Amino acid sequence: MTEQTIALVTGANKGIGFEIAAGLGSLGWRVGVGARDRRRRDTAVEKLRAAGTDAFGVPLDVADDASAAAAAELIADRVGGLDVLVNNAAITGVMPQTPSTVDPATVRDVVETNVIGVIRVTNAMLPLLHGSASPRIVNMSSSVGSLTLQTTPGIDMGPIPTAYVASKTFLNAVTVQYAKELSGTGILVNSGCPGFTATDLTGFRGVRTPQQGAAIALHLATLPAGGPTGGFFDDGGSVPW
Ligand code: NAP
Repeated sequence: MTEQTIALVTGANKGIGFEIAAGLGSLGWRVGVGARDRRRRDTAVEKLRAAGTDAFGVPLDVADDASAAAAAELIADRVGGLDVLVNNAAITGVMPQTPSTVDPATVRDVVETNVIGVIRVTNAMLPLLHGSASPRIVNMSSSVGSLTLQTTPGIDMGPIPTAYVASKTFLNAVTVQYAKELSGTGILVNSGCPGFTATDLTGFRGVRTPQQGAAIALHLATLPAGGPTGGFFDDGGSVPW
């Protein structure tokens, strides 16, 4: 491993992922900008580098096995290791998504990216993370995936897009399972919720800036040794499952 901390952020070409990359860059880290579209990836890397981040592009479609494997190879060849993986890429899928009308193909697409994509990329990167002194995995989830909040009387979670919401519940369960398996390895694995943020994903209706949305990921990426693992957090602390 080099002395510079190395991170990979998936879906880093825009929105919260871009700001996570910028925030990690401002710590002096070297940041892989995982993005599937070449032009969008190059533009993001250029912007980050112009602002002082030591950024490099990582071609990555999280829904594609070969792409995830190639991304791990590129990181190993180019920077020699990985300390922090931020699984940020996600889609909402075609709307509306009421349970009784949602197209099963939409559910499959959303789970493929938001859940299986996280498993695929995590498993591709784990051999590299095992070589790190302070390995961390951050899964960008959402409080809308909290079954506790969804079923607490008096809490209005708004219209429920079934595929997206359930994908985040599923993702949280996956976070817990990784934390259990990796317990004792030094790899801390947590879910983070950015809050309702103004990005493409929300049609820019969110009330938080992408920079504010990135804050929880920066916190979880920089947890000290012995910090929490298998948890679900936002800027206010623990989020109920
Ligand atoms: P966004 O602006 O829509 O950005 C999503 C990113 O994911 C884009 O870079 C997109 O790339 C990428 N992506 C999607 N599918 C991909 C794939 N197959 N391979 C690689 N990259 C892919 O969304 P955001 O609001 O920043 O959301 C970031 C994370 O926060 C997501 O996990 C989201 O669920 C979570 N979150 C957001 C909010 C909110 O209010 N915004 C709230 C709770 C949780 P392209 O440009 O190529 O499409």
